[in-house]
Amino acid sequence: MGSAGRLSAVLALVTGGGGGIGGAVCARLAREGARVAVADGDAAAAAAVASRLARAGEHAAFGADVASAPAVAHLVADVQAHFGAPPAVCVACAGVTRDAFLLRLSEGDFDEVLRVNLKGTFLVTQAVARALVEAGAPGGSVVTVGSVVGKVGNLGQANYAAAKAGVEGLTRTCAKELARFGIRCNAVLPGFVATPMTAKVPPKVLQKFADQVPLGRLGEPQDVADVCAFLASPESSYITGASVEVTGGLFM
Ligand code: NAP
Repeated sequence: MGSAGRLSAVLALVTGGGGGIGGAVCARLAREGARVAVADGDAAAAAAVASRLARAGEHAAFGADVASAPAVAHLVADVQAHFGAPPAVCVACAGVTRDAFLLRLSEGDFDEVLRVNLKGTFLVTQAVARALVEAGAPGGSVVTVGSVVGKVGNLGQANYAAAKAGVEGLTRTCAKELARFGIRCNAVLPGFVATPMTAKVPPKVLQKFADQVPLGRLGEPQDVADVCAFLASPESSYITGASVEVTGGLFM
Protein backbone atom coordinates (compact mmCIF):
# COMPACT_ATOMS: atom_id res chain seq x y z
CA MET A 1 0.00 0.00 0.00
CA GLY A 2 1.16 3.58 0.16
CA SER A 3 0.14 7.19 0.14
CA ALA A 4 -0.62 7.59 -3.57
CA GLY A 5 0.83 10.81 -4.92
CA ARG A 6 3.22 11.36 -2.00
CA LEU A 7 6.05 11.37 -4.58
CA SER A 8 4.01 12.71 -7.48
CA ALA A 9 6.27 13.51 -10.47
CA VAL A 10 9.43 13.22 -8.34
CA LEU A 11 12.35 11.64 -10.22
CA ALA A 12 13.97 8.79 -8.29
CA LEU A 13 17.14 6.86 -9.09
CA VAL A 14 17.29 3.37 -7.59
CA THR A 15 20.53 1.42 -7.85
CA GLY A 16 20.38 -2.35 -7.47
CA GLY A 17 16.90 -1.85 -8.91
CA GLY A 18 17.00 -5.29 -10.51
CA GLY A 19 17.38 -6.97 -7.12
CA GLY A 20 14.93 -8.05 -4.43
CA ILE A 21 14.87 -4.94 -2.24
CA GLY A 22 15.70 -2.53 -5.09
CA GLY A 23 12.87 -3.93 -7.22
CA ALA A 24 10.39 -3.49 -4.37
CA VAL A 25 11.64 0.07 -3.83
CA CYS A 26 11.11 0.87 -7.53
CA ALA A 27 7.56 -0.54 -7.39
CA ARG A 28 6.71 1.36 -4.21
CA LEU A 29 8.10 4.70 -5.43
CA ALA A 30 6.28 4.33 -8.76
CA ARG A 31 3.01 3.56 -6.96
CA GLU A 32 3.45 6.80 -5.03
CA GLY A 33 3.77 8.76 -8.26
CA ALA A 34 7.53 8.89 -8.84
CA ARG A 35 9.21 8.53 -12.20
CA VAL A 36 11.88 5.90 -11.63
CA ALA A 37 15.32 5.48 -13.17
CA VAL A 38 15.97 1.80 -12.51
CA ALA A 39 19.72 1.10 -12.48
CA ASP A 40 21.44 -2.22 -12.06
CA GLY A 41 24.68 -3.95 -12.97
CA ASP A 42 22.47 -6.18 -15.10
CA ALA A 43 20.75 -3.85 -17.60
CA ALA A 44 18.25 -6.55 -18.63
CA ALA A 45 17.16 -7.04 -15.01
CA ALA A 46 16.68 -3.27 -14.68
CA ALA A 47 14.63 -3.19 -17.90
CA ALA A 48 12.42 -6.04 -16.69
CA VAL A 49 11.68 -4.20 -13.43
CA ALA A 50 11.00 -0.89 -15.23
CA SER A 51 8.54 -2.58 -17.60
CA ARG A 52 6.47 -3.91 -14.67
CA LEU A 53 6.09 -0.60 -12.80
CA ALA A 54 2.88 1.41 -12.55
CA ARG A 55 2.69 3.85 -15.49
CA ALA A 56 5.43 1.83 -17.21
CA GLY A 57 6.01 4.38 -19.95
CA GLU A 58 7.26 7.01 -17.48
CA HIS A 59 10.29 5.09 -16.28
CA ALA A 60 13.64 4.09 -17.76
CA ALA A 61 16.28 1.44 -17.16
CA PHE A 62 20.04 1.84 -17.05
CA GLY A 63 22.96 -0.59 -16.70
CA ALA A 64 25.91 0.60 -14.61
CA ASP A 65 28.55 -0.71 -12.21
CA VAL A 66 28.09 1.50 -9.13
CA ALA A 67 31.69 0.90 -8.10
CA SER A 68 33.12 2.53 -11.23
CA ALA A 69 33.42 6.32 -11.04
CA PRO A 70 33.15 6.84 -14.82
CA ALA A 71 30.16 4.47 -15.01
CA VAL A 72 28.37 6.32 -12.21
CA ALA A 73 29.11 9.69 -13.81
CA HIS A 74 27.65 8.39 -17.10
CA LEU A 75 24.66 6.93 -15.29
CA VAL A 76 23.71 10.22 -13.62
CA ALA A 77 24.35 12.16 -16.86
CA ASP A 78 22.20 9.67 -18.81
CA VAL A 79 19.39 9.89 -16.23
CA GLN A 80 19.55 13.68 -16.40
CA ALA A 81 19.53 13.64 -20.22
CA HIS A 82 16.61 11.22 -20.35
CA PHE A 83 14.38 12.93 -17.78
CA GLY A 84 15.63 16.52 -18.15
CA ALA A 85 16.53 16.89 -14.47
CA PRO A 86 18.75 15.27 -11.84
CA PRO A 87 17.09 12.74 -9.53
CA ALA A 88 15.73 14.44 -6.40
CA VAL A 89 15.49 11.03 -4.75
CA CYS A 90 18.18 8.37 -4.78
CA VAL A 91 17.93 4.97 -3.11
CA ALA A 92 21.27 3.15 -3.22
CA CYS A 93 20.39 -0.55 -3.01
CA ALA A 94 23.21 -2.14 -5.01
CA GLY A 95 25.12 -4.59 -2.86
CA VAL A 96 26.89 -7.93 -2.81
CA THR A 97 28.03 -10.53 -0.31
CA ARG A 98 31.14 -12.73 -0.46
CA ASP A 99 30.82 -14.60 2.83
CA ALA A 100 33.72 -16.45 4.47
CA PHE A 101 35.02 -16.80 7.98
CA LEU A 102 37.79 -14.34 8.80
CA LEU A 103 40.51 -17.01 8.83
CA ARG A 104 39.63 -17.89 5.22
CA LEU A 105 38.47 -14.52 3.88
CA SER A 106 40.49 -13.61 0.80
CA GLU A 107 41.75 -10.13 0.08
CA GLY A 108 39.80 -10.22 -3.19
CA ASP A 109 36.50 -10.95 -1.46
CA PHE A 110 37.17 -8.27 1.14
CA ASP A 111 37.94 -5.71 -1.57
CA GLU A 112 34.95 -6.63 -3.75
CA VAL A 113 32.44 -6.24 -0.92
CA LEU A 114 33.93 -2.88 0.10
CA ARG A 115 34.09 -1.82 -3.55
CA VAL A 116 30.42 -2.37 -4.32
CA ASN A 117 28.72 -1.74 -0.97
CA LEU A 118 30.78 1.16 0.35
CA LYS A 119 32.59 2.79 -2.56
CA GLY A 120 29.55 2.28 -4.78
CA THR A 121 27.32 4.04 -2.26
CA PHE A 122 29.86 6.87 -1.99
CA LEU A 123 30.10 7.32 -5.77
CA VAL A 124 26.34 7.31 -6.30
CA THR A 125 25.66 9.69 -3.41
CA GLN A 126 28.40 12.05 -4.58
CA ALA A 127 27.29 12.04 -8.23
CA VAL A 128 23.63 12.66 -7.37
CA ALA A 129 24.53 15.41 -4.88
CA ARG A 130 26.82 17.10 -7.41
CA ALA A 131 24.12 17.01 -10.06
CA LEU A 132 21.53 18.47 -7.67
CA VAL A 133 23.86 21.22 -6.45
CA GLU A 134 24.98 22.10 -9.99
CA ALA A 135 21.37 22.30 -11.14
CA GLY A 136 20.54 24.57 -8.20
CA ALA A 137 17.80 22.06 -7.48
CA PRO A 138 15.82 22.67 -4.31
CA GLY A 139 16.51 19.80 -1.93
CA GLY A 140 16.66 16.08 -2.33
CA SER A 141 16.68 12.83 -0.39
CA VAL A 142 19.36 10.15 -0.54
CA VAL A 143 18.57 6.83 1.11
CA THR A 144 21.44 4.40 1.57
CA VAL A 145 21.10 0.74 2.48
CA GLY A 146 23.25 -0.44 5.33
CA SER A 147 22.51 -3.52 7.41
CA VAL A 148 21.97 -4.32 11.04
CA VAL A 149 25.03 -6.57 10.53
CA GLY A 150 27.10 -3.36 10.33
CA LYS A 151 26.17 -2.74 13.97
CA VAL A 152 26.29 -6.20 15.51
CA GLY A 153 28.60 -8.17 13.17
CA ASN A 154 27.79 -11.60 11.80
CA LEU A 155 29.68 -14.86 11.45
CA GLY A 156 31.28 -15.07 8.01
CA GLN A 157 30.64 -11.43 7.14
CA ALA A 158 33.67 -9.42 8.31
CA ASN A 159 33.85 -7.75 4.88
CA TYR A 160 30.11 -7.05 4.67
CA ALA A 161 29.80 -5.82 8.28
CA ALA A 162 32.73 -3.44 7.73
CA ALA A 163 31.23 -2.13 4.50
CA LYS A 164 27.80 -1.61 6.00
CA ALA A 165 29.19 0.12 9.10
CA GLY A 166 31.03 2.34 6.64
CA VAL A 167 27.78 3.13 4.82
CA GLU A 168 26.34 4.50 8.08
CA GLY A 169 29.36 6.75 8.71
CA LEU A 170 29.31 7.89 5.10
CA THR A 171 25.60 8.67 5.29
CA ARG A 172 25.85 10.68 8.50
CA THR A 173 28.75 12.71 7.07
CA CYS A 174 26.89 13.36 3.82
CA ALA A 175 23.88 14.42 5.90
CA LYS A 176 26.00 17.02 7.70
CA GLU A 177 27.67 18.32 4.53
CA LEU A 178 24.59 18.37 2.29
CA ALA A 179 22.07 19.82 4.77
CA ARG A 180 22.89 23.35 3.62
CA PHE A 181 21.74 22.38 0.13
CA GLY A 182 18.50 20.97 1.50
CA ILE A 183 19.60 17.42 0.68
CA ARG A 184 18.74 14.86 3.35
CA CYS A 185 20.66 11.59 3.73
CA ASN A 186 19.44 8.64 5.75
CA ALA A 187 20.27 4.95 5.98
CA VAL A 188 17.93 2.00 6.28
CA LEU A 189 19.35 -1.01 8.08
CA PRO A 190 17.49 -4.18 7.11
CA GLY A 191 17.75 -7.31 9.19
CA PHE A 192 17.25 -10.54 7.25
CA VAL A 193 15.05 -10.11 4.19
CA ALA A 194 13.98 -12.81 1.73
CA THR A 195 15.79 -11.90 -1.53
CA PRO A 196 18.24 -13.54 -3.96
CA MET A 197 21.02 -12.34 -1.62
CA THR A 198 19.76 -14.31 1.39
CA ALA A 199 18.82 -17.27 -0.82
CA LYS A 200 22.57 -18.05 -0.67
CA VAL A 201 22.43 -18.38 3.15
CA PRO A 202 21.87 -21.95 4.38
CA PRO A 203 18.16 -22.39 5.33
CA LYS A 204 19.14 -23.58 8.82
CA VAL A 205 20.99 -20.34 9.48
CA LEU A 206 18.10 -18.22 8.18
CA GLN A 207 15.66 -20.17 10.33
CA LYS A 208 17.85 -19.53 13.38
CA PHE A 209 17.61 -15.78 12.77
CA ALA A 210 13.87 -15.98 11.99
CA ASP A 211 13.32 -17.70 15.36
CA GLN A 212 14.97 -14.73 17.10
CA VAL A 213 12.85 -12.05 15.41
CA PRO A 214 10.36 -10.63 17.95
CA LEU A 215 7.85 -9.95 15.16
CA GLY A 216 8.13 -13.64 14.27
CA ARG A 217 9.22 -13.66 10.63
CA LEU A 218 11.98 -12.72 8.23
CA GLY A 219 11.58 -9.41 6.42
CA GLU A 220 10.02 -8.99 3.02
CA PRO A 221 11.44 -6.55 0.45
CA GLN A 222 8.25 -4.47 0.82
CA ASP A 223 9.04 -3.90 4.50
CA VAL A 224 12.23 -2.12 3.49
CA ALA A 225 10.60 -0.37 0.53
CA ASP A 226 7.96 1.15 2.83
CA VAL A 227 10.65 2.83 4.93
CA CYS A 228 12.62 3.96 1.86
CA ALA A 229 9.46 5.60 0.49
CA PHE A 230 8.90 7.40 3.78
CA LEU A 231 12.51 8.64 3.88
CA ALA A 232 12.24 9.72 0.24
CA SER A 233 9.02 11.64 0.84
CA PRO A 234 8.38 15.06 2.38
CA GLU A 235 6.79 13.27 5.35
CA SER A 236 10.33 12.79 6.67
CA SER A 237 11.43 16.37 5.93
CA TYR A 238 12.92 16.89 9.43
CA ILE A 239 14.89 13.61 9.42
CA THR A 240 18.49 13.51 8.25
CA GLY A 241 21.55 11.53 9.32
CA ALA A 242 19.31 8.82 10.76
CA SER A 243 19.71 5.06 10.56
CA VAL A 244 16.38 3.27 10.60
CA GLU A 245 16.45 -0.42 11.50
CA VAL A 246 13.97 -2.58 9.60
CA THR A 247 14.52 -5.84 11.43
CA GLY A 248 11.27 -6.94 13.05
CA GLY A 249 13.05 -6.13 16.31
CA LEU A 250 16.04 -8.45 15.78
CA PHE A 251 19.10 -7.35 17.79
CA MET A 252 17.32 -4.42 19.45
P1 NAP B 1 19.90 -8.69 -4.38
O1 NAP B 1 18.55 -9.19 -4.71
O2 NAP B 1 21.09 -9.54 -4.66
O3 NAP B 1 20.06 -7.26 -5.08
C1 NAP B 1 21.29 -6.59 -5.17
C2 NAP B 1 21.33 -5.93 -6.51
O4 NAP B 1 22.53 -5.15 -6.60
C3 NAP B 1 21.35 -6.93 -7.64
O5 NAP B 1 20.33 -6.61 -8.56
C4 NAP B 1 22.72 -6.75 -8.25
O6 NAP B 1 22.66 -6.88 -9.66
C5 NAP B 1 23.05 -5.30 -7.90
N1 NAP B 1 24.48 -5.08 -7.95
C6 NAP B 1 25.45 -5.85 -7.42
N2 NAP B 1 26.65 -5.33 -7.69
C7 NAP B 1 26.42 -4.22 -8.43
C8 NAP B 1 27.27 -3.25 -9.02
N3 NAP B 1 28.62 -3.31 -8.89
N4 NAP B 1 26.70 -2.24 -9.72
C9 NAP B 1 25.37 -2.17 -9.85
N5 NAP B 1 24.52 -3.04 -9.31
C10 NAP B 1 25.04 -4.07 -8.61
O7 NAP B 1 20.00 -8.36 -2.83
P2 NAP B 1 19.02 -7.54 -1.86
O8 NAP B 1 18.81 -8.40 -0.69
O9 NAP B 1 17.88 -6.98 -2.59
O10 NAP B 1 20.01 -6.38 -1.39
C11 NAP B 1 19.76 -5.00 -1.64
C12 NAP B 1 20.56 -4.19 -0.62
O11 NAP B 1 20.06 -4.49 0.69
C13 NAP B 1 22.05 -4.53 -0.60
O12 NAP B 1 22.79 -3.36 -0.37
C14 NAP B 1 22.16 -5.45 0.59
O13 NAP B 1 23.45 -5.46 1.13
C15 NAP B 1 21.15 -4.82 1.52
N6 NAP B 1 20.68 -5.71 2.58
C16 NAP B 1 20.03 -6.85 2.30
C17 NAP B 1 19.59 -7.66 3.35
C18 NAP B 1 18.86 -8.94 3.12
O14 NAP B 1 18.62 -9.66 4.09
N7 NAP B 1 18.47 -9.27 1.91
C19 NAP B 1 19.86 -7.28 4.66
C20 NAP B 1 20.53 -6.09 4.92
C21 NAP B 1 20.94 -5.31 3.88
P3 NAP B 1 23.73 -7.69 -10.51
O15 NAP B 1 24.44 -8.62 -9.56
O16 NAP B 1 22.93 -8.35 -11.53
O17 NAP B 1 24.63 -6.62 -11.04
